[in-house]
Amino acid sequence: MKLSKTARAEDTLVEEDGEVLEVLEDLVRGVYGEPGLKLLRFMLEHGYVAEELLTRDTGIKSNEGRRILQKMSEENIVVPGKLRTGDGVLHIWRLNKPGLRSAVLMRLRKAREKLAARLSFEAGNIVYECPRCGKRYTLDEAYVNDFICPSDGEVLVESNKGEAVRVLQESISRIDALIRRLERVRE
Ligand SMILES: [Zn+2]
Repeated sequence: MKLSKTARAEDTLVEEDGEVLEVLEDLVRGVYGEPGLKLLRFMLEHGYVAEELLTRDTGIKSNEGRRILQKMSEENIVVPGKLRTGDGVLHIWRLNKPGLRSAVLMRLRKAREKLAARLSFEAGNIVYECPRCGKRYTLDEAYVNDFICPSDGEVLVESNKGEAVRVLQESISRIDALIRRLERVRE
C-alpha cells in the first residue's frame, strides 16, 4: 500500500538531502522527542502512518502517537487523510512537505541570526577565555573578575579572535548554502 507520489518539485524536499534531513531530524527530536522522530522516519520511509496501525508499525503507544501527530498537524508539518483498504478505511497522516520545508527554513534562519549576532560581537569586542573550561567573557566581565575564571580560578587570556570568527563564518556559509538549496526547491 504505497501512496502515489506527486511529481511537484516542492514535494521532493528533505529526504534526498542528507544535510537538510539532519536539520529536520534535530528539529523534530527537539520539539516532539524520540517518539516524534520515530514517526517522522516512519512517514519518510513509508509515505504515511495509519492511526489504526500506529503501535504495531512504530512501537509508540497510540495515545501518545496521536497526540504528537495532532501537534504536528497544528504546526502544519503533517496532514490527515483516509486510505481505503480491502477491509475498511484507515485514518492516516502524511508529511506535508511544503510545511516541513518552511519549518526547516525557519529553524535555519533563526540559527543564522544567532550566529550572525555572535559574529558581530566577536568581531567588535575583545573577548577573554578560560584556557581550562573554555568559557568566554567580555572585557567587562573579565575585568570584574580580575581576569580570573569564576568557575575554576584559571587566569583568563585574550581569545584568538581570528579562529572564533573563522568558525562562525564557516557555520554561517554552511547555513546559507542550505537555505539556498531549500529556497531553490520552491521555484
Ligand atoms: Zn574556567
